[in-house]
Amino acid sequence: MKRPSSGGGWRAILYTLRKARQSGGLLKMWRAMRTRNACKTCAVGMGGQHGGMVNEAGRFPEVCKKSLQAMAADMQGAIRPEFWSTYALAALRMWTPRQLETSGRLVQPLLYERGQANYRPIDWTEAMERLARGLRGVPADETFWYFSGRSSNEAGFLLQLVARLYGTNNVNNCSYYCHQASGVGLTSSIGSGTATVVLDDLEQADMVFLIGGNPASNHPRLMTNLMHIRRRGGEVVVINPVVETGLVNFRIPSDVRSLLFGSPIASLYVQPHIGGDLALLTGIAKRIDELGAQDHEFLRQHCAGHEQWLEYLRRQEWAEIHRRSGVEPAQINELAEKYAAARNVIFAWTMGITHHAHGVHNVQAIANLALMRGMVGRPHAGLLPIRGHSNIQGIGSVGVTPRLKEVIFQRLQEQFSIELPTTPGRDTLECIEGADRGELKVGFCLGGNLYGSNPDAAFAEQALDKLDLLVHLSTTLNTGHVHGLARQTIILPVLARDEEPQPTTQESMFNYVRLSDGGPRRLDGPRSEVEVIAELAQRLLGDSGPIDWQSMRDTGRIRQAIAQVVPGFEQLATIDQTRQEFQIGGRTFHRPQFGTADGRAVLHCPPLPDLQGAGGQLRLMTVRSEGQFNTVVYEDDDLYRGQERRDVILLHPRDVERLGLRAEQLVTVRSETGSLPRILVRPFESIKPGNALMYYPEANVLVPRHADPLSRTPAFKSVVVTLEAANPAAV
Ligand code: SF4
Repeated sequence: MKRPSSGGGWRAILYTLRKARQSGGLLKMWRAMRTRNACKTCAVGMGGQHGGMVNEAGRFPEVCKKSLQAMAADMQGAIRPEFWSTYALAALRMWTPRQLETSGRLVQPLLYERGQANYRPIDWTEAMERLARGLRGVPADETFWYFSGRSSNEAGFLLQLVARLYGTNNVNNCSYYCHQASGVGLTSSIGSGTATVVLDDLEQADMVFLIGGNPASNHPRLMTNLMHIRRRGGEVVVINPVVETGLVNFRIPSDVRSLLFGSPIASLYVQPHIGGDLALLTGIAKRIDELGAQDHEFLRQHCAGHEQWLEYLRRQEWAEIHRRSGVEPAQINELAEKYAAARNVIFAWTMGITHHAHGVHNVQAIANLALMRGMVGRPHAGLLPIRGHSNIQGIGSVGVTPRLKEVIFQRLQEQFSIELPTTPGRDTLECIEGADRGELKVGFCLGGNLYGSNPDAAFAEQALDKLDLLVHLSTTLNTGHVHGLARQTIILPVLARDEEPQPTTQESMFNYVRLSDGGPRRLDGPRSEVEVIAELAQRLLGDSGPIDWQSMRDTGRIRQAIAQVVPGFEQLATIDQTRQEFQIGGRTFHRPQFGTADGRAVLHCPPLPDLQGAGGQLRLMTVRSEGQFNTVVYEDDDLYRGQERRDVILLHPRDVERLGLRAEQLVTVRSETGSLPRILVRPFESIKPGNALMYYPEANVLVPRHADPLSRTPAFKSVVVTLEAANPAAV
């Protein structure tokens, strides 16, 4: 499959037309995309009260393939009743993530009981009775509650409240496997766990560091902002072990000049080793110090620990920095000089930074580098974790974490005259390991694909198999519905965001809260998440307690509660009347008054991680393709990397030769945790020698469970592997 020379472009337009045709035609797709609902895919944010395909700066059209893929998936027809008797679980287990996703919308509650060969449809009454009975049958702390970042603030807030009043804090969300390191790292540096900038700051910056990610595929509309920075003569520095097509050049379909002639994105592209970012970031800081380009006054006034940090920098050996980062002195110098010359710099990163056993240290090193030139705490400069799911930040803000923020804990108790449990809650990995040890009996998943997103997939399946009851609220099928099945597994079909009967809200990665109107249901059968949760609460907790669960079926009522207990969300109480979307207070730092106790930022001195893998080993990172979003695979091909299939490993031609392999040779990829047989070797010039990439979630079989001790996020992007020729003759 030939790799295109740039991202976006006519291919994206043709893809849009194809997807629209598959979903009932261009007009139908246009109408669906123009409703006032927040985009269902990534956290950049689009839609809401500004209207579909409009961003908070009022720019139109703002849309991308990812948004269309999610819409087309929700516009699928219903899975037919006979599907469940036709396809046994044994068969469905052989289906790819894409085959499961594109088999249609879930419309009936489904039940699997151990020993059954197939799922069988049941009615809602039986489903809810079984669910409530299953929960009533175990101590609350033997249950866990997992949330996807796609659900609304209202569903998230209500379900975490139900779980806690039921008696447990085993409440967590999918960011524990993605961006938790950003939250923990930023909070330790500036006392706040989200972006310090708004979208307009990105528009005004003259330099962006884009570290450890491929937003050209996963957050495509950010390419428009980066193109504007380049057109204004600004710099876009990309740090990534892989040279990604769309980060070199992108054709923005909505910009004629860009569409016709392409737009250069990266002005400097630096390829460290996988896991070499911390050494590189520390090297840039050390060079800035040598150049005397730091903002001494800002460090002295606004940063705690700056003397120790500068000593830490000066202690670092250049030889070690080059070895561990894999980046040459000249390039580190060029990076430092470009940074020293810039006036307004934004540091943006994704999971290439957070998916490491030292993910939090990576985030702290980025904050250190930004602070040393006073690039945090003023307009047009700052820190921007590029997050995944469209409401992953909102789910965290409304209390979906094992441990509630103290202010929310106190306000919830006061607001509802309730007593909340104070037992320690489990994060996502602890829940899987607890299930395997038999300490947990029941799991409740609000959206997402818990099995699919887990490291050590074989272990995750084994652990989930040990549960008595596992419940999924989902719109379409995924691998988690056919792998890791409890003694009793129930799937409850739910409505998509733009099918909700009531307005809901979502929070973007820029701390911007949108109001989604919902819309008419497309299919009979599915129910709204809030309705299911409120009914469960009534069945489980009854109506005689301090909370009137019947009233909690009203999303407006839930917003009033959120507004009273979550700082910065006060405006949520009346948003469906005012229709005024808003920036959450206390999150954007345009002044150097940070969220720490003394208002000063904190500089950290993390140890440089050693470079993993040597000799015949490779450092492997698991990645998302152009055709997927998180665990959801919409297309098997990965257009921008030129791959037409997913059972491949991409490594540099020099490594193919060094390891005595050939292109298209079948190999078994092995790590300390697992192995994947019959994988095709694909020479790939764009990756740094010594490193390799494979597709998530299929490669999770290889990913160990050891996690960053600070964020509890597994190292999905740093796995040491070896390749064994399956059978030298098997070419
Ligand atoms: S960039 Fe993200 S928010 Fe914007 S349209 Fe694409 S998926 Fe939606």
